[in-house]
Amino acid sequence: MAVKGTDLVKLLPKKTGCKECGFPTCFAFAMKLATGGAKVSDCPYLSDEVREKIEDLLAPPIRPITIGTGDKALLIGDEEVIYRHEKTFFHPPGIGVLVSDTEDEKDIARKIKSVEEMEFIWIGRTLKADLVVLRCASGEKGKFVSLVKKAAEMADGTPLVLMADKIDALLGGLEACGKEQKPLLYAITEANIEEAISKLGQAEVPVAVKAEDLGKLSALTEKLKEAGIQDLVVDPGSRKLWEAVRDQIFIRRAAIKQGFRALGYPTITFPCLMADDPKRELVIASALVTRYAGIIVLSDLKEDMLFPLVVLRLNIYTDPRVPMAVESKIYEINQPTDESPVLLTTNFALTYFSVANEIEATKVPAYLAIQDTEGLSVLTSWSAGKFNGETAGEFIKKSGIEQKTKNRKIVIPGVLARIRGELEDELPGWEVVIGPREAAGISSFLPELVGRS
Ligand code: SF4
Repeated sequence: MAVKGTDLVKLLPKKTGCKECGFPTCFAFAMKLATGGAKVSDCPYLSDEVREKIEDLLAPPIRPITIGTGDKALLIGDEEVIYRHEKTFFHPPGIGVLVSDTEDEKDIARKIKSVEEMEFIWIGRTLKADLVVLRCASGEKGKFVSLVKKAAEMADGTPLVLMADKIDALLGGLEACGKEQKPLLYAITEANIEEAISKLGQAEVPVAVKAEDLGKLSALTEKLKEAGIQDLVVDPGSRKLWEAVRDQIFIRRAAIKQGFRALGYPTITFPCLMADDPKRELVIASALVTRYAGIIVLSDLKEDMLFPLVVLRLNIYTDPRVPMAVESKIYEINQPTDESPVLLTTNFALTYFSVANEIEATKVPAYLAIQDTEGLSVLTSWSAGKFNGETAGEFIKKSGIEQKTKNRKIVIPGVLARIRGELEDELPGWEVVIGPREAAGISSFLPELVGRS
């Protein structure tokens, strides 16, 4: 729930006219504060109490939490909306693999490596898992500590989650990997909160809080906040699909709609503990991607499970206000020469990658001319007047392609056969060829065009 300037102004000292904040009135300052255009510290007349109150009001409804450090650090939380179409979701859930200290050495090594090595290139992006989740399943601190040591050496900076019931085991694990690695410690519960406050208060790493229900969870987070431990991730303890989805929705709505700070934290979820069958685990994980999970822990990383999940995550966390686009330019595929033909299409990312991949597979050297249509697909950009004979002609003339090839054949998408005449008028000397309606047709069309069929 965004705070309003009119609420903030009530807390200001109203020394109207002092202007020390750089604004003509307290009201103007409050309005800027509410929209992030000024800092609370800019007004020198606020008491510590009022400053804290204003900072609390201005804090994001879901606290941003960073796990790990450097390039691989995972930032979760800091979301602003319930529905993606209201604005966008900002921070995709981290996907982690559960590794227990009771597993055999080979499995442990394979799972840790898979987080680093299992990746998929999808419309120009690298999609992969993010976390190694280390669990003290043996109940033995020594065993857990050696697992953490091994993982810290192998994980090459991949963020870690340390899971143990006992605070001593968590502290042992923290010492083994180093608190500068900023692992997430899981979990503080009703049973160990007093010990956690006294021993983890100075740890300066994020901690997860687990309770059996949302009421108890809120009480724990409030208590930790009072003790100065605020970098929290919450686990409402639900281990059935419908309960987990219900709790995720409740937490998100409470934080964003009601401004309920006690639940304003990202969540950690465990599909790995909710299903025995990998397919069901995937279904649960998918539901949690769409319903607000901050971290999703899987029992293992298998390609056929991880790939659909990371693609779904990409789709849900892509900004719906910004079409996915690639750079508008001439792409050279299969080492084209000055004899190679030109294919023309739009800079919608999915179009580009479909067409480029199909051309590459034919092994026919060609130029792919990608026109800027603000990321719109072929028919959409044509309907919007962004992709027609006139715009395409102008793009081709400015693109420099006439200096790269003497071939004067330009292939247009089959669904836009209607722009052929216009484009020929714009590009005298070029033969406009109508290509296939779908990218899949390029595999037979292109070899035929160059006489290689
Ligand atoms: S410095 Fe503080 S008191 Fe002075 S105008 Fe700005 S907000 Fe008001």
